Amino acid sequence: MHYHIRKLIQVGRRLFEEGLVDARAGNLSVRIGQKMLITRRGSHLGTLKEHDFILLDITKTSILDSRASSELLVHREVYVKTQNLALVHAHPTAVVKLSFRTKKIVPKDSEGKTLLKSVKVIPNLPSGSQKLAEAISDILSQDKLVVVRSHGVFSADTDPFYAYGHISVLEHSCKILLDD
Ligand SMILES: [Zn+2]
Repeated sequence: MHYHIRKLIQVGRRLFEEGLVDARAGNLSVRIGQKMLITRRGSHLGTLKEHDFILLDITKTSILDSRASSELLVHREVYVKTQNLALVHAHPTAVVKLSFRTKKIVPKDSEGKTLLKSVKVIPNLPSGSQKLAEAISDILSQDKLVVVRSHGVFSADTDPFYAYGHISVLEHSCKILLDD
């Protein structure tokens, strides 16, 4: 458990230091067997502590659910429907800006092109809704990233560092696209 917590603390700090989340935004989780370790509601990703994490069942709801991130439903649905072991959600400025203009982000820089190819942008469904959870998990069963218009990005992979990495590359590509 400590291993996973240490890793998530590092990922949160990097997201904040790179400006990929603002003070109270974003959430993180990893899957550990039939459970998931997820950030607490309202936690600050830049300064996560051990008490900012909650261990929940992937399928069974509990009274602790209300203390978890407001995007808990998305995290649950992704672990139920996909093979991913980590989910990272952030609000990168350039990604959000570009999301108003397009249904698909296609990087033009060579790194973004190679690593991301193209990233789908879905409508701004209400935060914490089952509809949002379903739309995101459908796409993350095939893609590594999905952008929610005017809101932010979700990335899933086998490791939280990989998911953070995809978001970092996407933000870089979006900054270049916005310069057009
Ligand atoms: Zn958000």
